[in-house]
Amino acid sequence: MSVSTQTDAKNAVEAVPIRFEKTGCHGGKDQLLEAAHAAGKSETLDQYAADYPVGPHDQPQSMCPAFGSLRVGLRMERTATILSGSACCVYGLTFTSHFYGARRSVGYVPFDSETLVTGKLFEDIRESVYEQADPERYDTIIVTNLCVPTASGVPLDLLPQQINGVRIVCIDVPGFGVPTHAEAKDILAGAMLKYARTEIEQGPVSSPENRRKDKPTVTILGEVFPADPVALGMLLEPMGLACGTVVPTRQWRELYSALDGDVVAAVHPFYTASVREFQRAGRPVVGSAPVGCDGTAEWLKSVGDAMGLSSQIVGNTIDAFVPKIRAAMDAARINARLTISGYEGSELLVARLAIESGADVRYVGTACAKSAWSAPDVEWLQARGVEVKFRASLQDDLAALDEYQPDLAIGTTPLVQEAKSRGIASLYFTNLISARPLMGLLGASSIAEVINSALANRPRSDAMREFFAGVGEGDKAGIWEKQPTIKTGYRERYAKKLAKQIPQQTSTATT
Ligand code: SF4
Repeated sequence: MSVSTQTDAKNAVEAVPIRFEKTGCHGGKDQLLEAAHAAGKSETLDQYAADYPVGPHDQPQSMCPAFGSLRVGLRMERTATILSGSACCVYGLTFTSHFYGARRSVGYVPFDSETLVTGKLFEDIRESVYEQADPERYDTIIVTNLCVPTASGVPLDLLPQQINGVRIVCIDVPGFGVPTHAEAKDILAGAMLKYARTEIEQGPVSSPENRRKDKPTVTILGEVFPADPVALGMLLEPMGLACGTVVPTRQWRELYSALDGDVVAAVHPFYTASVREFQRAGRPVVGSAPVGCDGTAEWLKSVGDAMGLSSQIVGNTIDAFVPKIRAAMDAARINARLTISGYEGSELLVARLAIESGADVRYVGTACAKSAWSAPDVEWLQARGVEVKFRASLQDDLAALDEYQPDLAIGTTPLVQEAKSRGIASLYFTNLISARPLMGLLGASSIAEVINSALANRPRSDAMREFFAGVGEGDKAGIWEKQPTIKTGYRERYAKKLAKQIPQQTSTATT
């Protein structure tokens, strides 16, 4: 153990202010927030509150936010991931990551009340980080505090910045401070960009393998379908530009080429911390994305303006692509009323594409917050009478189903489940819409294909609905060994009890 290691250990023991006290994992958001502030996490939590504003709902129904950052880390080469949190949370997160094909181990430092309260948990994390820091295997180790260690103030910032040349990147991703898993992706991407930017400022860094030196590049901010960067490259080529690195990256070195890009395209609008790092590096940022005819023309113009290109070059590029995109969209029309919702951050872009393909889109709900980078999309959609809801809850999405009676609903799992039970054609946003190209010429007809095939399946789903009518619904849900006995008397008593509580709740709420 080196001298600096011993010093770190000493600091750690003195500085760990564990304040979890009576608050547990189920203590409630307010209590956890209070505990985390008292434990010294105010700076982090205040930054999250500024970066990821909430309201009208505090937290749309979404998976554990840490899944977002976990997935970003697991997709990076030569990167180890260590979680610190309750065993049940880590079980759920690792299960989900393997379900999505992580094919990589997730490190876990367990704790109990004693190690949490005495500060031994930090020592255990530190020990496991040292054990993992093998430069032969890893460039980076990502350490993540989940809810309980964040609320307890486990001070990951006291870990060394690097060990044996392996970078140590530490983040807090508590469910009570980060609204969605999308925003957790930004927390990790932003932390890595900040680290890489500091490395660049301190001296020469290794050149990325695929760095473009022949042309100025546009860095893409947002997880896009693999064909999208190709489509973006085709659009940028006549303007003398190339599609650069996509953030979140797959290799550490790509962070350098991302920061080296000439302009940043925030195609997903929730990457607030990442945008801050690009802006600190002096890079201009443009919003929205080249979807459909209008979106492509506007985006090319924004990129051209950011690069100081002549209006003739930009105009010629628009003239070369927009008629082709129009023709592709005309060949794949959507003749249906839709509602669209999701938590990926690309919901507004999908709605634009669907509308230009002929769809009657009435509602777009996104779990993400309003941001400057989606402002052009909001304006475009609202000008066409579409209801746009940020931080949309499942209740908002269900209300849109009632209100607009769509032919097809695109949304999250519970929304799709409800739509199916009502016999409305439906598609999962994450698995079926996000997994298709959206941009430029390649994206022009791709969602029409999947939407039209779902609409064509309507007679089949009607037949299935008729066949299964009443099965597994209400009292018949679940597995029963014998016919359940309906206890009507109990129900009546419970209904009366609830009815009595309602006036009391109303008077409490108004006092
Ligand atoms: S939000 Fe917090 S408590 Fe819930 S699963 Fe994630 S880490 Fe665990």
